[in-house]
Amino acid sequence: MKMKEEKWLIGVDLGGTTIKLAFLDYYGEILNKWEIPTDKSEEGRHITVHIARAIDDKMAEMDITKDKFAGIGMGAPGFIEMETGFIYQAVNIGWLNFPLKDKLEIETGLPVIIDNDANIAALGEMWRGAGDGARDLLCVTLGTGVGGGIITNGTIIHGTNGMAGEIGHITSIPEGGAPCNCGKSGCLETVASATGIVRIALNSIESHKDSLLYARYKEHNELTARDIFETAQSKDKYAVEVVQNVTFHLGLAVGNLANSINPSKIVIGGGVSKAGEALLTPLKEQFEKFALPRVKEGADFAIATLGNDAGVIGGAWLVKTKLMK
Ligand code: ZN
Repeated sequence: MKMKEEKWLIGVDLGGTTIKLAFLDYYGEILNKWEIPTDKSEEGRHITVHIARAIDDKMAEMDITKDKFAGIGMGAPGFIEMETGFIYQAVNIGWLNFPLKDKLEIETGLPVIIDNDANIAALGEMWRGAGDGARDLLCVTLGTGVGGGIITNGTIIHGTNGMAGEIGHITSIPEGGAPCNCGKSGCLETVASATGIVRIALNSIESHKDSLLYARYKEHNELTARDIFETAQSKDKYAVEVVQNVTFHLGLAVGNLANSINPSKIVIGGGVSKAGEALLTPLKEQFEKFALPRVKEGADFAIATLGNDAGVIGGAWLVKTKLMK
């Protein structure tokens, strides 16, 4: 019997196009990481076998055996029953009523724990990233969508049926907002995701033909969130206006959330967060209008630091804290 500190952990992060895998030591150091394509054929039924095979192949390559590992922590998109690791629905993958934990345990012979992909990314940032030891943490991921994770006293909040932390679907525009993937309209995701930011800029770009942003748009025949933040940094009036609009809604949502959970760290991640200070400075200004003085004093903003590794590191954290007790 090995000491528990000698055990390794496996993190798996399932996305719509790739599955990220990693072996980590007990302290969350990545020892080996790699990825395989997500095979969505036949309603995603081959995915667990592919994960098991990828893990077995890597063990053989590294000349190690299964008893080296304490278990697998995996993040998956969709609606999940946390205790049983049962996926009610994962539209991007094709799963409907899929017993993910059970299947992966049978295929790998290792204990498995499942959580939502945004939640494991938040746990990863708490453990080894921008969280920097904070135990009350609000994570907001601004990518093609808007995701979130709420951690209080070191534990991720799931709510009564796993829906806690769905920050992207906070209503930002109560009337006349753009339609959202969830079926509602005016969600924060329609405003503050990369897609949302670009949509807002394009809405009235034709009436800002003298702007730097318009010139960029005409030059590349398309617009990205990065174009918008970069031209805003160059003080382009229209780009600044778009950034103000976006950070107003984001700051309002984050301010309201902070008033409810009183976090010590607010971590902003995802592709849009690469804008760095061009995003953080106006966001903090807006946030400060809506957060209570003591809430504001307690909360530091930070840009996520782990990038694509956050998920596998958070998965390993689940193994360490939930499976190794
Ligand atoms: Zn929505």
